[in-house]
Amino acid sequence: MKIAMIGTGYVGLVSGVCFAEFGFSVTCVDKNPAIVKRLQAGEVTIFEPGLDELLTRNARDGRLTFTTELAETVADADVIFVAVGTPSRRGDGEADLQYIHAAADEIAAAMKPNAVVVIKSTVVVGTNADVRDRIARARPGVPFSMVSNPEFLREGSAVEDFLRPDRVVVGVHDDAGAAAMKRVYRPLYLRETPMIVTTLENAEIIKYAANAFLAMKVTFINEVADLCEKSGGNVQDVARAIGMDNRIGSKFLHAGPGFGGSCFPKDTRAYAATGRKMNAPQTLIEQVVTVNEQRKRSMAERIVEAARRSGTKSVAVLGIAFKPNTDDIRESPALDIIPALQNAGLAVRAHDPEARSAAEPVLPGVTWCKSAYDAVEGAGITVLLTEWNAYRSLNLKKVSQLMGGKILFDLRNVFNDQELEGSGLEYHSVGRP
Ligand code: NAD
Repeated sequence: MKIAMIGTGYVGLVSGVCFAEFGFSVTCVDKNPAIVKRLQAGEVTIFEPGLDELLTRNARDGRLTFTTELAETVADADVIFVAVGTPSRRGDGEADLQYIHAAADEIAAAMKPNAVVVIKSTVVVGTNADVRDRIARARPGVPFSMVSNPEFLREGSAVEDFLRPDRVVVGVHDDAGAAAMKRVYRPLYLRETPMIVTTLENAEIIKYAANAFLAMKVTFINEVADLCEKSGGNVQDVARAIGMDNRIGSKFLHAGPGFGGSCFPKDTRAYAATGRKMNAPQTLIEQVVTVNEQRKRSMAERIVEAARRSGTKSVAVLGIAFKPNTDDIRESPALDIIPALQNAGLAVRAHDPEARSAAEPVLPGVTWCKSAYDAVEGAGITVLLTEWNAYRSLNLKKVSQLMGGKILFDLRNVFNDQELEGSGLEYHSVGRP
C-alpha cells in the first residue's frame, strides 16, 4: 500500500514518518521547497523528541521520501492523507479552509480510481462532505472514498502519541474507506488501540469538541487560581484533589498564563464560530475564548505593575515556545506578553532552548540570550513562561545573584519553597500563596 502525505508540518511529518515506521511506503509532499530540500537532506525541520531517529531510519531503508511534486505522488498513491494547516481566518475566527480546498483540487486532478482521500487536518463539521462533493464534481464517474481521520497528537510528545494513541477516530461514508483505515492502522489495532469508526460529521465534531473541552478545563482551573489568590487558597492542592475524582481527571488542570499553541486558540474560535453559524451557540466556549485572551493581558499587567513598583526597566523572559519540547511559538502567551512589556517601556531579554529562530523575526527589539543564566543577568524581573526541564533545575540563588532586581514571576508554578529558600527572591506564582 502506498501512502501520500500532503503537508509536512507538525502533523504531516510525524504521521508520514510513523506510517513509514509501520512498514508502508510513504511519500511526503510539501509545497514549500525549502522544507522539502532539508527533509531530502535528512534534516528534521521541526523539533520533536524521537522524530530524528525514525526519520533517518525509514528514509535510509527506502520507505520514506520527500517531494514537492503533488500530482505524480498522488497519481501513484492508494491512500492520500491531507495534513495542511487550517488557521483562523482574520476577523471572524472561522477556520480558513483555503489550503484544504487547494489540496483537494490538486488531488482531484491527479488521483487514480478507488483512491482513499483522508483529511487529517482539523476541519469544521461539513468540510469532509464538501470536499467529497468538490472532488466528485472535478472527476465525475471516478470512484474514490472520503475519510475523516482527525489527529490528536500533542506537540512535544507527538511521536509517542501517534504510536500509542488513546484511540483512533475515523469518519467514513463507505466500506472501502473503513477497510483502508483498518489496514493503515493495523499495527495499532494489534496493540488493542480502540478504533472509533463513525460518520464524517461525527469525526469532525469529536475533534473540535475534544479540544474545546480541554481548553475549557485549562480556563476553568485558571479562574480557580484567581479565586485562590484572593482567598489564600492553593490551586495546586485544589487541582490535585479534584483531579483524583475519576469523573474529572488530573490532566489539563495546571494553572498558568492562558493557553496558546497551534490548536487550542484557533480551534476554540472556529468551534464557537461554527456554533454561531449553525445557530447552535457554544456559549461556554465563546467565554473560554474571551477569558483566555484577557488572561494573557492580565499576566502582562501583573509584571508591568511589579516593574513600576520596583522601578525596574528590564525583564528576563524564560521560554517562548507555547509549551516545552517544541519549537512551535504559534499563539504562545509569550507573543502577547512580551510586546505588552515592551509597550510599557520595559527592555526584554529572552531565552528558549529551541524556539529562538522561530521567535526572533516576530519579536523585534528582544535581546536573545544563549542561556537562562545569561538572560537573567542584570534583569530586574525574571518571568518563567514555559516549563522547560532546563528551567526547573535552575539554581535560584545563582539566578538571584545574577539579576539586578529580585522579582521572579513563575507563571507555570514550577518552583517550590525549598528551591526558593535563601535565594532572596520576591516570588510570584499562579494561584498559590
Ligand atoms: P503546519 O502549518 O505545521 O504544516 C502544514 C504544512 O502544509 C506546511 O508545511 C505547508 O507548507 C503545507 N501545505 C499547505 N498547503 C499545501 C499543499 N497544497 N500541498 C502541499 N503542502 C501544503 O500545520 P500543523 O501544525 O501540522 O497542522 C496541520 C493540521 O493538523 C491543522 O489542521 C491542525 O489544526 C491539525 N492538528 C495539529 C496538531 C498540532 O499539534 N500541530 C495536532 C492535531 C491536529
